[in-house]
Amino acid sequence: KGFRLLALTCAAALGVAGMSACGDDSGTGEAKIGVILPDSKSSPRWETADRKYLEAAFKKADVDYDIQNAQGDKTDFQTIADQMITNGATVLMIVNLDSGTGKAVLKKARAQGVATIDYDRYTIEGKADYYVSFDNVAVGKQNAEGLVECLKEKKVKKPVIAELNGAPTDNNATLFKEGYDSVLDPLYDSGEFVKGPDESVPEWDGTQAGTIFEQMMTEKKNKIDGVLAANDTLAHAAISVLKKNKLGGEVPVSGMDASTQGLQNVLTGDQCLTVYKPVKQEADAAAELAISLAEGKKEKLDDTLTDPETGHKTPSVFLKAQIITAENVQDVVDDGYVTAEKLCKDI
Ligand code: BGC
Repeated sequence: KGFRLLALTCAAALGVAGMSACGDDSGTGEAKIGVILPDSKSSPRWETADRKYLEAAFKKADVDYDIQNAQGDKTDFQTIADQMITNGATVLMIVNLDSGTGKAVLKKARAQGVATIDYDRYTIEGKADYYVSFDNVAVGKQNAEGLVECLKEKKVKKPVIAELNGAPTDNNATLFKEGYDSVLDPLYDSGEFVKGPDESVPEWDGTQAGTIFEQMMTEKKNKIDGVLAANDTLAHAAISVLKKNKLGGEVPVSGMDASTQGLQNVLTGDQCLTVYKPVKQEADAAAELAISLAEGKKEKLDDTLTDPETGHKTPSVFLKAQIITAENVQDVVDDGYVTAEKLCKDI
């Protein structure tokens, strides 16, 4: 079935013009809005989606901006922030690498009168002026609900589930887990599902995820019937190990991000689902706030996030995600997140 859908989706790509590469003329010197992205390897989204959409929004509003990527280095993250402030940034938007460095960066910014936004990842005790993200507990729930559906369809009795969680330093990983465990725990308790190995993957790193999953398989003598992977990078790592063990496509694997690779794995039947977070909505909301702040304006938001440590309330935006299976990959294409052409290339 997966292959038929793949053929249909790819056939639709024929004749579709290639997406032109986006221009890159950030760094006009005195940037008013500084954005720090976390890395490139934990998920392709930061460079292929977030940067692209933020850039487009800033260009449209004709504001000065500087978007940089800390490439997983906490010291560089702080240095980039310092430089942005020295260069005259009046708004700083960050995707932290952990709450500790995030907090230090936000504190310095505040001391210099720079307005701050936590983008996608909340910084615990960071007191950013705004937080823009998805309802990440709900995202985690969707991830597990999708996996439960896949297992039911396969009619696996008492499936053993392995959980590959995101980076322990990322508050989102905690929220995703809260969401998916709220779906899985009752099933473990009732005996319908069996709780298998459950581990966090440092830095959401695919290579480490592969090693961890290999150990899980050894420990369970390959008796793993479903994999809850917190994102598509981790899902792909598990899929590679399953394929090595001739179990590719046999064991339902979930994921999140609707990365090109994740969607391709969904189309080939190696991954049962991914959760699509419309990043354009997130980037647009954050850019709108950043632009207002750069103009010295404050915006009122309906939602708030309560800090788990201090109870401090941050005005927030929480967006909604969508479960994607082989049946509705087209929705992600229709939303403009990926082109059918790209999806079908090298699959
Ligand atoms: C984001 C995910 C991403 C992960 C790894 C999380 O904070 O919400 O979309 O896959 O980080 O970069």
